[in-house]
Amino acid sequence: MSTPAQRMVSEHLRPHGVTDERVLQAMASVPREEFLAPRLRRHAYEDRALAIECGQTISQPLVVALMIQAASPQSEDVALEVGTGSGYAAAVLSRLCGKVITVEREPALAEHASETLRRLGFESVEVAVGDGSLGWPPGAPYDVILVAAAAREVPPALPDQLADGGRMVIPVGIASEEPQDLRVYVRRGADVMYRSLFPVLFVPLRTG
Ligand code: SAH
Repeated sequence: MSTPAQRMVSEHLRPHGVTDERVLQAMASVPREEFLAPRLRRHAYEDRALAIECGQTISQPLVVALMIQAASPQSEDVALEVGTGSGYAAAVLSRLCGKVITVEREPALAEHASETLRRLGFESVEVAVGDGSLGWPPGAPYDVILVAAAAREVPPALPDQLADGGRMVIPVGIASEEPQDLRVYVRRGADVMYRSLFPVLFVPLRTG
């Protein structure tokens, strides 16, 4: 017997470019329905973004998996996520690295996510309230940075807080109906280079 999360992995993730077994295993092990309002739980393992509080969304599972795969988290890594939302992506990421700090600007979302994560036993995730476009200096530098909201331009504080060899995955573009460019940035010494992955649609990264 397979669980709904395992079926999501075999139907939506594995056939669409998620090849890293650790990522697939993490996606199969996190109960996405726990991060949703009761009326949406029956849709938890469909491959779609769903509404959460404050007009925000929990990202589509395939996009979460591909972003995490592109960031290639390692077991000792310290990761920063910008845009906690429901806490789901932070939970998945925490299965693959040592520590996750996730920053959310909406206090109500941060509080709810923090409660959910604590209830489910995700002890290596720390939820902080603030403007994540400034990164989170107390935890820097980060081996992995995941940004779950679209920026017109990459906020300079983020690559500044990337460790040597660190990877940052971020949607870049005007956040509206126009797709944004999902990019992975890699720091090597003083140089930060990026490559484009694929077009995505994220809610805007709000700054200031
Ligand atoms: N990763 C989330 C989805 C996040 S949606 C999940 O798995 O559920 C994007 C989130 O980014 C929203 O919750 C929004 O409030 C938040 N956000 C937008 N701008 C932000 C900023 N400058 N700093 C921190 N969070 C921000």
